[in-house]
Amino acid sequence: MVMQPAPAASLDLTRYATAPGRRIRVASVLPYLSIHLICLGVIWVGWSWTAIIACAGLFFVRMFVITAFYHRYFSHRTFKTSRAVQFIAAFIGTTTAQRGPIWWAAHHRNHHRHSDHPPDVHSPGLWGLIWSHMGWFLCDDGLKTDWKQVPDWAKVPELVWLERWHLLGPITLAAGSFGAGWALGTFAPALGTSGWQMFVWCFGVSTTLLYHGTFTINSLAHTIGRRRFATSDDSRNSLLLSILTLGEGWHNNHHHCPGTVRQGFYWWEIDPTYYVLRAMRAFGLVWDLRPVPERVYREAREHHTRVREESDRGRRLRREARRALRSTHQSGERERP
Ligand SMILES: [Zn+2]
Ligand SMILES: [Zn+2]
Repeated sequence: MVMQPAPAASLDLTRYATAPGRRIRVASVLPYLSIHLICLGVIWVGWSWTAIIACAGLFFVRMFVITAFYHRYFSHRTFKTSRAVQFIAAFIGTTTAQRGPIWWAAHHRNHHRHSDHPPDVHSPGLWGLIWSHMGWFLCDDGLKTDWKQVPDWAKVPELVWLERWHLLGPITLAAGSFGAGWALGTFAPALGTSGWQMFVWCFGVSTTLLYHGTFTINSLAHTIGRRRFATSDDSRNSLLLSILTLGEGWHNNHHHCPGTVRQGFYWWEIDPTYYVLRAMRAFGLVWDLRPVPERVYREAREHHTRVREESDRGRRLRREARRALRSTHQSGERERP
């Protein structure tokens, strides 16, 4: 049985994109575009192993913070942690220039509430791949925070403060990268780096890669891959996207059961974010990780049995058709004079 995704409503994208509140603002495009343009700086600053390793390290640490904290913690509350860890993770999250955790969680909760149906602002089936990837957050509606979606976080003063001053994150990273590069260039010249080189790689390249890695979950995870569960949206499971996003590519699993900390439900569905969270649990940094309910595994088993039965039936039908064709061919041969 092929599970049918939610039918895409026939909505007029042009009308949607030009509706009040959905027009893309130059003021929001410029900072987003500037971070991309910084990447061009590699032409002038070159590269060094120091810069590349730092860029990759920042990519993975911050991807983990986005997936584990912005997504699985602030949006879905799939585990618990202390107020200090919560704030540190929230601050690291802001360095990705994806605004604060409250804005992020509010939009994400809205996405789960209306997945691939009109109030969902980043559905590729409704509004197209580009809009769902990087159009929706550049318009007025995308920039707003719907506080009604996040009453739990609106009560935490330090998070509300960080939300207001979320630009401190990217500014700290930009200045820190430059400063670290300058210090290394001055005191450890053998490492072959400089202030501008570290600024370009650690702030520009790493943040841009992180942008598009994260955004694939809004665009491609609702477009490519397989569907295990018949959810009422287009979500899919993809190994490729899971590698890129440290486990977020098991998006059909996640839409079926958003309240569990684990998104890869089996050992072969790699989910590095979950492994790191388990390691953090061993050190007492997080706790109460919500497991996948037994009922979900039962549903998955039923799905696999159905798929196996259908493929067996398909194979049998094809075999019978081949046999029938062969016998028709042979009787035709015999009748020929
Ligand atoms: Zn989704
Ligand atoms: Zn989610």
